[in-house]
Amino acid sequence: MKVVEDQPKIRVMEGSWSPLGTIREVVEGGAQEDPFYVMDLGEVVARYNNWRELLPRVEPFYAVKCNDDKLLVSTLAALGANFDCASKAEIQLITSLGVAPERIIFANPAKMASHIRYAAAMGVDTMTFDSETELMKIKQYMPHAQLVIRIRCDAAAAQCPLGIKFGCDAVHEAPRLLKLAAVLGLDVIGVSFHVGSGAGESAVYARGIALARALFTFAASAGHRRMALLDIGGGFPGGSDTSIAEVAGVINTALETHFPENTVRVIAEPGRYFAAAAYTLAAQIHAKREIPSKDGEDNESHTMYFINDGVYGSFNCVLYDHQNVAANPLYPTSEKPTPCSVWGPTCDGLDCVLPSTQLPPMSVGQWLVFRDMGAYTLPVASAFNGFPVPTVRTMLSAPLWSMLKEFWPLDEARLETGPPVSLPPSPPPLEAVTNHHAVFVECALK
Ligand SMILES: *Cc1c(COP(=O)(O)O)cnc(C)c1O
Repeated sequence: MKVVEDQPKIRVMEGSWSPLGTIREVVEGGAQEDPFYVMDLGEVVARYNNWRELLPRVEPFYAVKCNDDKLLVSTLAALGANFDCASKAEIQLITSLGVAPERIIFANPAKMASHIRYAAAMGVDTMTFDSETELMKIKQYMPHAQLVIRIRCDAAAAQCPLGIKFGCDAVHEAPRLLKLAAVLGLDVIGVSFHVGSGAGESAVYARGIALARALFTFAASAGHRRMALLDIGGGFPGGSDTSIAEVAGVINTALETHFPENTVRVIAEPGRYFAAAAYTLAAQIHAKREIPSKDGEDNESHTMYFINDGVYGSFNCVLYDHQNVAANPLYPTSEKPTPCSVWGPTCDGLDCVLPSTQLPPMSVGQWLVFRDMGAYTLPVASAFNGFPVPTVRTMLSAPLWSMLKEFWPLDEARLETGPPVSLPPSPPPLEAVTNHHAVFVECALK
């Protein structure tokens, strides 16, 4: 985990604004050379509200591993979301924000002993398991833990399958583990599953909920009398063009069928859903190379663009998270797109962001924009080869600011009432930005 220290400014905006408009303003300022993100906290709030509306019975426990940006997690904490932590450092981060330990589930089925002891000391009682050895370990270090058995239930397709690593078989393994837990005097209170991150199937949640129902019944017969928690994990989509409406329909129906009783608390562990769309990345083209078509061969000429962020930085998501990213020019033109590829700044041949795409002709110094870059990007990025990890400019509206500021770990002494940022004298046309008002306050994070 990386604690975000280089979170320099929060900008509070009056009137309407857009991430694209802000990126243009920064770039037109002329001083920006490194890649940067614009983070829209309003998007996080909108997604939280959307979740509550579509899945009223399911409490979200945000999966911290997806993006541990302090402002993102403290905003979610302020809204009332709870947290899925997988390690000591993640528990440390979330409790340091003032979140009560009962609002955390330690949802890593293979925990280190020192992390279990830390959870016990902090009062984080709820944790998952999927093996006999984990039960023995928990018996030794935290016999009073509230346990949740993690079963395997894989979506037909997923960006990142998790079932290959975690989750016991619900039919062949889970009953034996539940009996063993009872013999050891351990308290099992629920069932969890994760269908895979970036799941490509909605019906899988109904399968998982049905498997969980059967285990609730079995667990009670095995002596676990307080079965009261169903955890349906993550896997929800997060892109701006996606919706959880369909998957919410499947989940709500399955809950009505299998868990009509209101005594069972239902939670989920969304990561991508909350983080992806709030972050827009801007990266600059610093070099390009034209590859001519070869005589007599059936290949087109093509342009290689080199940008200042790559697979060792934000675009690690292309390798680890199997994301398909899309590059867009900061200023759209009517020129015809031509075949090209986009490369990161390091000297590694692997550092390719887009091996084959189409862009209108771009020049060195121009900027590309990538939407939906908030999930599984920043926490993994490194400054390999001397190229810095992008900084984040967090933006929010004035009403949201007044609502949230009490919850944030901000050093009020460093609050700056900044001079309004003025636009350059003759800016290029700013589509998609209406009514852009000046920033009236900026403050720094402790
Ligand atoms: C990664 C992970 C999540 C988050 O998954 P998303 O697909 O990003 O929603 C939730 N729970 C567990 C246990 C995880 O490992």
